[in-house]
Amino acid sequence: MARLLRDVGEHAWIARLVGRLGAAARDRRVLVGPGDDAAAIRPGRRPLLLTTDALIEGVHFRAGWAAPSVLGRRAFAVNASDLAAMGGEPTFALLALEAPGRLRTADLDALVRGFARAAARAGARLVGGNLVAGSHLAITATLLGEASGPVVGRAGARPGDALYVTGTLGRAGVAVRALRAGRRTPWPLPPLRLRAGRLLAPLAHAMIDVSDGLLQDAGHLCRASGASAEILAACLPVATACRRALGDEAARFAATSGEDYELLVAVPPRAERALAGLRLRLGCRLTRIGRIVAGRPVVRVLDAAGQPVATRRAGFDHFR
Ligand SMILES: [Mg+2]
Repeated sequence: MARLLRDVGEHAWIARLVGRLGAAARDRRVLVGPGDDAAAIRPGRRPLLLTTDALIEGVHFRAGWAAPSVLGRRAFAVNASDLAAMGGEPTFALLALEAPGRLRTADLDALVRGFARAAARAGARLVGGNLVAGSHLAITATLLGEASGPVVGRAGARPGDALYVTGTLGRAGVAVRALRAGRRTPWPLPPLRLRAGRLLAPLAHAMIDVSDGLLQDAGHLCRASGASAEILAACLPVATACRRALGDEAARFAATSGEDYELLVAVPPRAERALAGLRLRLGCRLTRIGRIVAGRPVVRVLDAAGQPVATRRAGFDHFR
C-alpha cells in the first residue's frame, strides 16, 4: 500500500529525503547541507541575488494538472526565471513545503527530486527546506544566484530603447484556460532563459520576466524606469497553439495572458548590432516588439496603422 505522509511523519520523511539528497554534501560550495538547522554555504565573490516564489494548489494549479516531479521542476523554473531576468544564474535553493497528511510520500519524494534535478541541471544545489502540514499542497522555493556580468533590474529603460521579448507568448495562457475549463491538456513548463538572460544583461538597460502577462510586466518596467512603452501588436511572437486556439484574438490574448516566463528586454540603439551577433547563441527566438518613449509610465499597444488597440486587462493579479 502507498505510504501516506501522515503514516511516515515529518521527521522520518525529512531524514530519508536528506539521505537521498546526499549530492549537496559533495559540492565544495556547501559547508552544511540539508538536514541541519540551517545550511551553510560559501557564496561566490560576485553580487548575491535572492528571490522567492510559491506554487499553491488551488491558486496556481489544481490537482492532476501536472505530475509531482513536474511540479517540482516548475517550482524551480519560476524562481530561476526571476534570476534570469536580472542576468543571474542560480547557485543554491531552499524548498519550503506545505502538504496534507493524505499525500503519498512517494509523490512528495518525486516533487523534491524533480526540483533538485532541475536545480542541479542549472548548476544549483538544494541545501535545505521545511515541511509543514496544510490543507493543500503549497511549494515555496527560495533561490540564491550570482551574476557573472552586470545585474540588470527593471529600472533603467530610456526613451529610444528598443523592446525585445524572448521566445513566444500565449502558449501557457491557452493551456491554463483549457485546464481551468476542465480539459486535459499539457501544462507547459516555463522555459529556462538563464543563458539568454546572462547574454542579454550586458547589453540591456532594463529587463523583467513576463510572468503575469506582457502588458502588466511591461508596465512594471515602465514605472520603475519612469518611461512609457509602445508595443506593436503585429510584431508580437504569438505561440502557434495560441494562434490556433484564438485566431484573430490571439495577439490580444498573448499580450495579457500570464505564465510565459519569457524575458522582456530594453536595449539601447547602440547595442543593437551586438544583439544581432548574439541571436544564435541565446537558445531561443528574440523578437523586437516595440520601443520605450518618453512620458507617463503607460504601455500602449498599437495596430499596424499606429492606432491604440483596446486591451481589457493588463494581466494577472492575485487579489483583483
Ligand atoms: Mg519576475
